[in-house]
Amino acid sequence: MPKDTFYLTTPLYYTNSTPHIGHAYSTIAADVLARYHRVAGKGKSHFLTGTDEHGQRIADVAAAAGMTPKEFCDQIVERWKQQWRDINISYDQFIRTTDPDHEAAVQRIFTTLREKGDIVPGRYEGWYCRNDETFWPESKLIDGRCPNPECRREVEWLSEDALFFKLSAYRERLIAHFLANPAWVRPQSAYNEMFSLLEGGLEDLCVSRATVGWGVPLPGGGGTIYVWVDAICNYITAAGYPLDLDRFSHLWPADVHLIGKEILRFHTIIWPALLMALDLPLPALVFANGWITMEGEKMSKSKGTVVRPAELTAQFGVDAMRYVLLAQAAFGSDFGFSEEQMLRRYNADLANDLGNLVQRTLSMLARYRDGIVPESHVNDALSAGFDDARAAYEDALANIDFRGALTSAWERVRALNLYVEQTKPWELAKKPDRAELDRVLYDLCEGLRWIAAFVYPFMPTTGEAMWSSLGLSGVPGAPWSDALRWGALATGSRTTVPPALFPRIEAAAAAS
Ligand SMILES: [Zn+2]
Repeated sequence: MPKDTFYLTTPLYYTNSTPHIGHAYSTIAADVLARYHRVAGKGKSHFLTGTDEHGQRIADVAAAAGMTPKEFCDQIVERWKQQWRDINISYDQFIRTTDPDHEAAVQRIFTTLREKGDIVPGRYEGWYCRNDETFWPESKLIDGRCPNPECRREVEWLSEDALFFKLSAYRERLIAHFLANPAWVRPQSAYNEMFSLLEGGLEDLCVSRATVGWGVPLPGGGGTIYVWVDAICNYITAAGYPLDLDRFSHLWPADVHLIGKEILRFHTIIWPALLMALDLPLPALVFANGWITMEGEKMSKSKGTVVRPAELTAQFGVDAMRYVLLAQAAFGSDFGFSEEQMLRRYNADLANDLGNLVQRTLSMLARYRDGIVPESHVNDALSAGFDDARAAYEDALANIDFRGALTSAWERVRALNLYVEQTKPWELAKKPDRAELDRVLYDLCEGLRWIAAFVYPFMPTTGEAMWSSLGLSGVPGAPWSDALRWGALATGSRTTVPPALFPRIEAAAAAS
């Protein structure tokens, strides 16, 4: 069967920690794309997330907590799943690398690569960071310590018989793929960084661990499979490879892998080389989001600058957090985050612009027309603006530009608020002839309907509240090509005034 499903993935999150807003950021981004594609896409979509549960680090923290690694992961995984429920993440599949199907599939993949001569025996000696489960060349160490800025722990000298993936043999093909597909890794800075890494040369990758007990057992014994190889294969094992090739054929290749930029090397060099070795097509796009920084630095547990989603949703609500994270910066760039910025954007974009438009439109309709939508009519000037906004919104999301999509929607929100001020419905209501008032009210309701569709992937609860306030049922904006036609809001629809969607928050109240 041919591929017929839009397939997108988040990184697998490591179960030695619990979610903060950096994890939420990648996952909300994936959720926006998934919801948009369900509503607007031509076919099906499949949204995969999950957890990476193997490796010595997990075994160590589990032992410290007095649990087996599996027991430890079971309880951490519940916290990840609960977090995603709490912020309305609509994933289709949650994979755990301890799932028996995944483990069996990884062993099959490993065996295939050995049989093909892509994995060969050798001896590994080198500096190893236990925390990152990564071998580092001596030249990369900083004062004899791990070069990862988040880690900087002491590295240890490992010397063992090991198996190697012949990564270096794929360098030419990888370079050719980069040259032929200049947009396959984004943003551009990520592409450039990875391409220069390739040009600098590649070493073979040690893919077995004799001393790590918590992982997928090597077929034939002698230790476990390198946790990164196990984890990164989730994108194909979750899709059915190699145990359910029919399912796999509908999903693969992935349309988008959303990742954090700290794991670019694994996703744009090691991963495509593994796929080439398996004779599988490569994902269409790997997009690395930037970091959320606090006071100019990446959030860090040790510095106490980690923000949990609940700290923001308690004050601003789930939808507002989702909106602000994606509206704040171009996706792919780092951005500084503070509660003051969150508050400013909440009050400006959500309370003043969107909340106000919804409230005033539906209140006027209730007051002047008993909440009944007047006769449908065409307003060429307004509808042309919405058609343009739709095109810009679609184009932005096709390019993983969340801020761009929101900008085109918010230009329409502001245009409708301006339309209210220019037409002054409260004065039109004093005229004996109500025809002009009816036309203005219809325009406002119809514009609101389009905005509900634009808003829904980003703020699902808000989009649904707007949709149902207009007397509509189903998923806002679905099916897209029918819904986004000016004039589709039916005459006679019965509307209601929802409770204020985004009550203004005063700075003093926010600080308390
Ligand atoms: Zn380290």
